[in-house]
Amino acid sequence: MEIFIILSLVVVVILLVGYPLVNPLKYQEAHGTRPLARDDNDLYGKREIVFEALRDLQFEFATGKLAASDYAQMKATYELQAAQILQQIDALQPNKSKNAQAVRACPRCHTNMSAQDKFCTKCGAKL
Ligand SMILES: [Zn+2]
Repeated sequence: MEIFIILSLVVVVILLVGYPLVNPLKYQEAHGTRPLARDDNDLYGKREIVFEALRDLQFEFATGKLAASDYAQMKATYELQAAQILQQIDALQPNKSKNAQAVRACPRCHTNMSAQDKFCTKCGAKL
C-alpha cells in the first residue's frame, strides 16, 4: 500500500513539473504569461507576439542555436511584420494621424514627416 502511495505521488510530481517543459506554449497561454491575439483586429496582442518572437529569436541566436543567415532572414521577416502592425496601430489613432501632416521632409529621401518624428519612416534617416 505504501509503495502505491509513493508511486502515485511521484507520478503527480512528474506531471506537474514536466507539463511546462512538454508544452510550453499551452502552459504560457493557460497561465497568462504569453500575450494572445484575441482576434484578427487585436493589433496590440499581435504586436506583443511579434516582439516576443523577436526576443526569442535574438536569444536563440545568442545561444548559438541559429545560423547567422537564418537569424538575419527570420529577423527581417519579424521586423517587417512588426512595422506593418505598428503602422496599422498608428492609423487607428485619430489625433496622431491628424497631426501627422507633412511638416518637414526627410533630408535623405525627401519623404514628408510629421514634426514629432525623430527618424524617417521610409529610409530610417535621423531627422
Ligand atoms: Zn527618409
